[in-house]
Amino acid sequence: MVYDIAIIGAGPGGYIAAIRAARLGAKVALIEKDRIGGVCLTRGCIPSKTILASSDRYREAKKLSKFGIKLNNLTYDYSEIFQRKEKIVQKLNRGLAQLIKANEIDFIKAEACIESKNILKVISESAEERIEFKNLIIATGSRPGSLPNIRLDREFILDTDDVLKLESLPDSVLIAGSGAVGIEWARIFNGFEKEVILVEIAPKLAPALDGSISDALRRELKKKKINFYTETNIEKIRGKEVILSNGQELTPDIILLGAGRVPNIEIKGIKDLNPEMNGKFFRVDNNLRTNIDNIYAIGDVNGICQLAHVASHQGIKAVEHIILRQEVGIDYQNVPFIIYGNPEIASVGYTEDALIERGIYYKKSIFPMSALGKSVVEDEIDGFIKILADDKKILGIHLIADNGAELIQQLAIAKGAGISPEAMKEVIFAHPTYSEAVYESILGLSEEFLHLPPGLKMKV
Ligand SMILES: Cc1cc2nc3c(=O)[nH]c(=O)nc-3n(C[C@H](O)[C@H](O)[C@H](O)COP(=O)(O)OP(=O)(O)OC[C@H]3O[C@@H](n4cnc5c(N)ncnc54)[C@H](O)[C@@H]3O)c2cc1C
Repeated sequence: MVYDIAIIGAGPGGYIAAIRAARLGAKVALIEKDRIGGVCLTRGCIPSKTILASSDRYREAKKLSKFGIKLNNLTYDYSEIFQRKEKIVQKLNRGLAQLIKANEIDFIKAEACIESKNILKVISESAEERIEFKNLIIATGSRPGSLPNIRLDREFILDTDDVLKLESLPDSVLIAGSGAVGIEWARIFNGFEKEVILVEIAPKLAPALDGSISDALRRELKKKKINFYTETNIEKIRGKEVILSNGQELTPDIILLGAGRVPNIEIKGIKDLNPEMNGKFFRVDNNLRTNIDNIYAIGDVNGICQLAHVASHQGIKAVEHIILRQEVGIDYQNVPFIIYGNPEIASVGYTEDALIERGIYYKKSIFPMSALGKSVVEDEIDGFIKILADDKKILGIHLIADNGAELIQQLAIAKGAGISPEAMKEVIFAHPTYSEAVYESILGLSEEFLHLPPGLKMKV
């Protein structure tokens, strides 16, 4: 049999591509050497958010007396939290396996090697076979990176894979990097009342984000008693002692490297096809196609934007290009980016600095969550929504707020679908909800705030 599409890697890029292709009537082979779900399900988004959910519940439970609820002897058992994470990953993994089967996708648990531009050799523990295909999608993802002068020993110095394997929590952790992973684990450890020290080499926290968010994050970390150092790196590790470039000497129980990811480009046989590279990633065109006309590369392995939802969207679009001949044209300015801090940080589109740098005209509106009834009810008054827009469209949204990861989506829809701020003013927002802050921040673009005094400009 000749497959219409063979896909290497069943992460959120590969398995979603397989489902979309099967729904469009293609005969699909999905080859995965590990577990369906990839990094996202087994070592990334889902297990980390499961642990985060427990950490948050514990943090919230400690606040319950404020809500008139008395709880005595509050404690947690990390081994149960660990087991819950394992069970959830297994459950979702089983669900995906059923979904793959129900879509009549041939799932092959094996390592895929490339023999030619139309043939894969798939090697499992028990067998080796060749499969023929018309089109190939490479969705092999990425693995944790490391820092140049630091050797992982997986006991004292850990990466994001290792930290998920801990069955008990250390009392203190030094986290290198204040990006999405670093901030998320800072929130987790802090929630469990562990000492956290964040070390960031850039001058500001979460350096990729809008400056106002970095500043707010700085304040939030201070409030939560999370120590951090910017413009600092780990200079030396001597036994269990860490020496920072600012001269600080620390003795954390573990070091977690939240550094970048390395793409899995070392597929056996691929070099013979001479794929063009973009640094360490496979180079792809606007249709996610490599320089080999029937081979596509999606998700973390092309390095465009290393997020699960981007991998999935690229998977759908690559398949639509193969089967329907539709141009892909993804606008990466519409990708929501979340940092699961406390409160959650979310952004889409241009930062204010980027607009200034490009000389793009914009208006700005900032609405504080503290001015909202819902935030006061929930005792979650920290943060704000900042919208940058021209007279017709939204250019950027940067927010830090309780439930920010959900809140951003309505503005991302407006931005992505080209709904103007004027049109959004006609929408009725339910009360009392956090979404009212979206409405207010839209009104603020034309100085029409309802729940802020006239003329007041929020400084963040
Ligand atoms: C701790 C952590 C938390 C994260 N949280 C989030 C989050 O909240 N939101 C978000 O959007 N993103 C998050 N990410 C990023 C997200 O996990 C990745 O962007 C996403 O998994 C990339 O999907 P992918 O399909 O490109 O590759 P992957 O998920 O890496 O999957 C690739 C698959 O290919 C398989 N493979 C590789 N080579 C071969 C071969 N030769 N033969 C067969 N199979 C092969 C691998 O075994 C793997 O299963 C997180 C990452 C980490 C590490």
